[in-house]
Amino acid sequence: MPFDRLFRDQLDTLKAEGNYRYFADLTRRCGAHPRATNTTEDGVAREVTVWCSNDYLGMGHHPDVVAAMARTAQTCGTGAGGTRNISGTQHQHLELEAELADLHGKAAALIFSSGYVSNWATLSTLGSRLPNAVILSDAGNHASMIEGIRHSKARKVIWAHNDVADLERKLAALPANATKIVAFESVYSMDGDIAPIEAICDVAETYGAMTYLDEVHAVGMYGPRGGGVAEERGLMDRVTVIEGTLGKAFGVMGGYIAGSAEVCDFIRSFASGFIFTTALPPAIAAAATASIRHLKESRAERDLQKRQVARLRAGLDRHGIPHMANDSHIVPVLIKDPVKTRMLSDYLMDEWGIYVQPINYPTVPKGTERLRFTPGPAHSDADIDHLVDALNVLWKQCAVARATA
Ligand SMILES: *Cc1c(COP(=O)(O)O)cnc(C)c1O
Repeated sequence: MPFDRLFRDQLDTLKAEGNYRYFADLTRRCGAHPRATNTTEDGVAREVTVWCSNDYLGMGHHPDVVAAMARTAQTCGTGAGGTRNISGTQHQHLELEAELADLHGKAAALIFSSGYVSNWATLSTLGSRLPNAVILSDAGNHASMIEGIRHSKARKVIWAHNDVADLERKLAALPANATKIVAFESVYSMDGDIAPIEAICDVAETYGAMTYLDEVHAVGMYGPRGGGVAEERGLMDRVTVIEGTLGKAFGVMGGYIAGSAEVCDFIRSFASGFIFTTALPPAIAAAATASIRHLKESRAERDLQKRQVARLRAGLDRHGIPHMANDSHIVPVLIKDPVKTRMLSDYLMDEWGIYVQPINYPTVPKGTERLRFTPGPAHSDADIDHLVDALNVLWKQCAVARATA
């Protein structure tokens, strides 16, 4: 086709930079997490251990969650049948929203097709409809927040990542009549660092700003009931809107916000990305509710995740393999070169049965390419030892720098 040349040129540039993305063909097998079947380009099936899943706690295979999805599909069918406004609101959606409001100690919650859509729809609606809105966005915020802010056409002020002093300076410089919205995350997914939520809430309150917190990489995993870092630190009531996903630690799909009855009703009533799209299938909502309920009661998954994260870090330290220090469950190993990162990832898959996706631009800045490991409760001690052995051997073969400290 005559236009294909236009597409191919840009793809060729990506390939030359080492930033072209290759998907791994995986088949998950229920109950076998983190094991999966990888089908190679030649059609050969092989078993791999997944080390980069965002199904952080393996809840996508939990018997209660799978049973809720299967049972609901059998009794209610597959699709919701419409948008939430037009015949799509199912009993399971309302149950899920009540569960989420309770999880975050808020009056209400509102679900979306995904976490991406929840950020995009909520921030674009807040920014476009509130009078003189100014959105103060952490420099490390996720693409879905950035796109929502951009779409709102509101004034945007970027503050240095996790830098409360910079946030305060920028809040102080804004006019008194601005409606200020401070948008940030709790656990940042690529570096695994955690925001100083309390200090951010302090300055936001001082300057009369509302707070919008993305807890996507924290819900299910932090706090006594899996309500996230804000729950762990006793700060949920100080955050105006908490946003989360049902697709990562909860192991299903969908996104949400939790907040006051008014803010949820406002987004429900004005957000295009909520109104004009088919509601989640009831089976998905029921599975998410089962997962949240389980993790509210059970600490076993969170405790074991912490243990396995510590074990992997200790193993890497023993061999001088540098990894980014942080207080979360995310273990990034910086390679700082897209081609080398891809090569290490291929070796791990082909020679060691270890699947870890190379993380490259634009997910992370150029020059900070990395392997990002997410140990969870289903990784055995032997799995971790095998990974550490593999990295140790590869570090010798590929002459990647070791930590010298
Ligand atoms: C993954 C992610 C999202 C989007 O959530 P999905 O449910 O996957 O669409 C939002 N925010 C952050 C920080 C994320 O990493």
